[in-house]
Amino acid sequence: MSKEFEGKVALITGASRGIGKAIAIKLASLGAKVIINYLQQDDKAQQVLNEVSALGGMALLKKADVSDSAAVKTMFSEVKNELGKVDILVNNAGITRDTFLLRMPDNDWDAVINTNLRGVYLCTKQALRSMIEKSWGRIINITSLAGLLGNAGQSNYSAAKAGIIAFTKSIAREVGALNITVNAIAPGFIVTDMTDKLPAETKDLILSRIPLKRFGTPEDVANLVAFLASEQASYITAQVIGVDGGVV
Ligand code: NAD
Repeated sequence: MSKEFEGKVALITGASRGIGKAIAIKLASLGAKVIINYLQQDDKAQQVLNEVSALGGMALLKKADVSDSAAVKTMFSEVKNELGKVDILVNNAGITRDTFLLRMPDNDWDAVINTNLRGVYLCTKQALRSMIEKSWGRIINITSLAGLLGNAGQSNYSAAKAGIIAFTKSIAREVGALNITVNAIAPGFIVTDMTDKLPAETKDLILSRIPLKRFGTPEDVANLVAFLASEQASYITAQVIGVDGGVV
């Protein structure tokens, strides 16, 4: 039986662990050739590649900083030569540098905006060039509930994530006529290294506000990515969809 994404090339930023890893494995299990982009931890990225290979899938590792224009250009041109043009882009790479605004060093503001927002801009621009030639493309940006609601201690992160939402809607309007959809996913609390570092009291408070009474898993997010990348979602664009257990 043919698989949904056979013949498609999917690039997932920040795919060495957490949500990005689950997305890479999900898309590969559905037949996509996946590019595992990451910044550090070669061993973890290699582990993702091994898991994809064990599924009979095809993957390529690309270590590149998504906030670095030259590195992003090089990554996309290498991918084009080695695997083919990117059909599906998942802008997932993200970092936090949480602190209240008056204590925030400029570096922490810049690092979060650069990775979380500039990275989305740079990768989308490169991916669009090949999607336009094919008249087909899927761009899926991982924003956050914090980008919709704001969050004390996360003004840098929330601003970047809100920026991703406006960027998503703008690009969806620019490229809709070219059969390219652009959507955002807003996860709530997903169990990964990023959320592991939160204090236990914060986790308890968050859990008390989740109607489904559990934290999300990276697979919960990956399932929605697979749907948005599929033909079944071909009339869905410029949307922001929550994966948050109904957080109130
Ligand atoms: P994580 O910290 O576990 O993984 C982050 C990944 O991003 C890693 O693979 C890392 O190598 C990569 N990365 C970081 N900086 C990079 C850079 N400059 N260039 C390339 N890669 C880089 O994080 P996660 O929890 O899996 O989060 C993934 C995405 O989901 C992020 O955008 C995050 O903001 C978003 N998100 C997470 C949650 C959550 O609860 N975990 C909630 C909402 C949104």
